[in-house]
Amino acid sequence: MKKPVIGILTNLMSVEEGPYTGGQRIYVNRDYVTCILQAGGIPLLLPIIDEIAVIHEQILRIDGLVLSGGQDVSPHYYKEEPIPEMGSVSPDRDFFEIHVIKSAISLQKPLLGVCRGLQMLNVACGGSLFQDIPAQIKESKLAHQQKEHRTLGTHEVDIAQDSHLFRILRKMSVQTNSFHHQAVKEIAPGFRVVGRSRDGVVEAIERVGGPFALGVQWHPEMMTGDSDMRALFEAFLTEVRKG
Ligand code: MN
Repeated sequence: MKKPVIGILTNLMSVEEGPYTGGQRIYVNRDYVTCILQAGGIPLLLPIIDEIAVIHEQILRIDGLVLSGGQDVSPHYYKEEPIPEMGSVSPDRDFFEIHVIKSAISLQKPLLGVCRGLQMLNVACGGSLFQDIPAQIKESKLAHQQKEHRTLGTHEVDIAQDSHLFRILRKMSVQTNSFHHQAVKEIAPGFRVVGRSRDGVVEAIERVGGPFALGVQWHPEMMTGDSDMRALFEAFLTEVRKG
């Protein structure tokens, strides 16, 4: 069977010292690449660019897309002003990803959003975010920014039983790692919440109907010792092959 090409979104880093100071680097955590390779895909990094027509051409050339983790999403994109607790943002990355997601939706490419990727998917499709969980969700008493190792699950996520995510995992709940301080506020039209932590924070969303679009607030790519997390990537690849 022909291996599908999976685009992986990248991040920007400024060089702060040495002879290349002032330059920028485009990169992604290697876990994403390893996961896609293990699940049977051809990983392809998509550099951050600002030409909308070329962004569309990038998406035309892939079969599926992984929206990777990273900075906070600028509240500008959901029409809010920043609160003091908001973290760092990347205007270049936000602009790129808004257009990537618009192209991917219009071209019916399957999507898997991880952490910021879930948040960006929600915002690009018309939803909004809490800019900071401790400041804005008073009933949340869970550690969503865990101090434990990235590979360790720390809090439970309850899965909606009639969801695609439940059909993949076949479990009422999974233990996940957690490295976020933002979360979904209003869910985007056409999407539904399919996973929540015990404090009510949104931890997974999926598109209702249409091509596969799943977002998870945790980092399954860092937990590949867990067969549930490998199953997520395998299910994503299965959906991409149907494309
Ligand atoms: Mn969490």
